[in-house]
Amino acid sequence: MQAFGLNQLPWLDEPFQRFLNELANGHSAHAQLLTIDTGLGGYLFAHEMAHAAMCQNLTPVGACGQCKSCLLFKAETHPDCHVIKADGNQIKVDQIRDLCQKLTVTAQQGGQRVAIIQNCEQFNLASANALLKTLEEPGNNILIILQTDVPSRLLATIKSRCQNVAFNAPDRRQVLAWLSSHQLLPQPPYGEKAHDVTWCLSMIGGPLKLAESLGNQHYQQLLQYRVDWANSIKSGHLTGSLIKLSEQQIIDALNVLYLYLRQYVLKSKELDALAASNIIGFSSKVAQMCQKLATMASINAPALCQDYILEFRQLIHYRQ
Ligand SMILES: [Zn+2]
Repeated sequence: MQAFGLNQLPWLDEPFQRFLNELANGHSAHAQLLTIDTGLGGYLFAHEMAHAAMCQNLTPVGACGQCKSCLLFKAETHPDCHVIKADGNQIKVDQIRDLCQKLTVTAQQGGQRVAIIQNCEQFNLASANALLKTLEEPGNNILIILQTDVPSRLLATIKSRCQNVAFNAPDRRQVLAWLSSHQLLPQPPYGEKAHDVTWCLSMIGGPLKLAESLGNQHYQQLLQYRVDWANSIKSGHLTGSLIKLSEQQIIDALNVLYLYLRQYVLKSKELDALAASNIIGFSSKVAQMCQKLATMASINAPALCQDYILEFRQLIHYRQ
């Protein structure tokens, strides 16, 4: 992912300023929950919060960047800053026990002890429970920052012990303007109109991930799925890239189908209410399958796609 600074992500300005004010006034909560997706700069925000909290000479716009604490932080060698990320696909109980132990030790640099827990939706029950006591009685000068891409997967007991950092995600129009201001939009072929690249934003997770996808082949691949779904639905047979989907690709392809169905309902003025509601129901089924596929061992992708094409054609009584 291209490296952006926090000051290049305008949707995070306001919440960061609010945190700095709380910090300066000594009112910041000891446990902060960031429901800011990685694709919206969730890691970066957590990192800058930690940086500001540890700075010995905080300025109105954030960490000073000059003090000993800042230098250690920038070198990623600050002894009082601990970053936790999943070991495999889970945050394990030993990682959290070890963290809680470290947080009880006196700060080596005499300031705040800070923990950043990335993608805390990857807690299992044991690791989540192991953190509860520290969240309840954290001790002085401790800041625990929990970042998540999937807030719905967090235990209520964790959520209720944290301050939720409110923020407004940018809408598609704002994302488009942001991509344009960083010259990240693809140039359309000569004589053609640029298309709106934010159509897949919701499945990608945020502007930073969209920017990354535009910079590699991923976005083109998603676009190709959209074209191939449209052609397959028209002909009744799988076409193009849908014929040979790998297990990694099927989830992307089905997410694109989901968006295609939603857009179909929005754009088709002649649909009656029943047909529209049937297609929405069908799109939900596709979305649920995407979630299931993440944990399924194997799948006959072409057969599944072919079934979906037939099911959709029946829903719209496709005639040629
Ligand atoms: Zn500093």
